Amino acid sequence: MIIVLKTNLSNQEIEEVFHKLESLGLTAQLVKTKPNTTIAILDDVSTLPTHLISQIPYIEKLIRLQLPNPLVKSSKNKAIKLANGLSFGNNNPPIIIAGPCAVDEPNELIELALDIKARGAHILRGGAFKPRTSPYDFQGHGLDALKTLGEAKQITGLPIISEVMSAEQVDLALPYVDILQIGTRNMYNYELLKEVGRSDKTVLLKRAFSATLNEWLLAAEYIMSAGNENVILCERGIRTFETYTRNTLDLSIVAAAKRQTSLPIIVDPSHATGKEELIRPMARAAIACGAHGLMIEVHPQPDKSMSDKEQAITPNQLSEIIADTEMLYQTINKLDHSELIALT
Ligand code: PEP
Ligand code: MN
Repeated sequence: MIIVLKTNLSNQEIEEVFHKLESLGLTAQLVKTKPNTTIAILDDVSTLPTHLISQIPYIEKLIRLQLPNPLVKSSKNKAIKLANGLSFGNNNPPIIIAGPCAVDEPNELIELALDIKARGAHILRGGAFKPRTSPYDFQGHGLDALKTLGEAKQITGLPIISEVMSAEQVDLALPYVDILQIGTRNMYNYELLKEVGRSDKTVLLKRAFSATLNEWLLAAEYIMSAGNENVILCERGIRTFETYTRNTLDLSIVAAAKRQTSLPIIVDPSHATGKEELIRPMARAAIACGAHGLMIEVHPQPDKSMSDKEQAITPNQLSEIIADTEMLYQTINKLDHSELIALT
């Protein structure tokens, strides 16, 4: 980091800045430059909060040489181990997360969990607390739904993911879930990000429907800087002028994010399109562009789903997507491999 001091400071004022920097445990080196004197900090200050330095008197500006999101960008070949022994991310085969938008009937959920497991899904999803645009829409069955998910896990062994929207909901969900989901509407809820960052559960961070790549990665940095390294990113569509689809699936961000971080990144074609008939083609496209997995809403009888029925697919449709995914993953691996051979 370079610290640019105000002009025309006395030696005593410059020394005062040095003392303050020393009291923060930093090694500083004076560089006499004109018109401003500058100080070089020799330590790694990537995780030091900027305000600790910027509030020192006589400082004109700070120039950080480090990346603004060092933890997100420095993780290498990141793979996250799941409770059932599977690894998520890096070059591992894509992970399929499937289940209803919201947990409704307990027996139905357990039957569905057994069914999707037999078809090759790896993780069971199900909303207990639903973030709905209208306060009059179904808000989820809360703790009862979490208990049902816990039962489904005991019976099937599938790890569980469910969304939390507040610190209280994090406490309620911890005994039942393996992955805490932060939904699109809460990506900017920094207190919630810190809260899940303090937990020992993997966090799935959905991109806000209005977030830039940088904002999304900085949201992940919030979770990681609170102590939790296990973050999975999820692209779920952004808001554009197009109203035919529920959102616009931004697959370029998957390839772009993969160039900036090795955190696993998955795609949710259900909320991206809002249309059952578009999920399979978009799931194929997601795997083809390098997504580490998919999150898909599945219901045994989509018409009876308590929320998002237009985008729910049946277990049979899920089987087709899982078959596509396996085939595409192998094909892409072969292509990547032949590219490597061509280069050598
Ligand atoms: C969900 O996955 O249940 C959900 C509400 O998704 P999103 O936050 O992407 O709208
Ligand atoms: Mn939904």
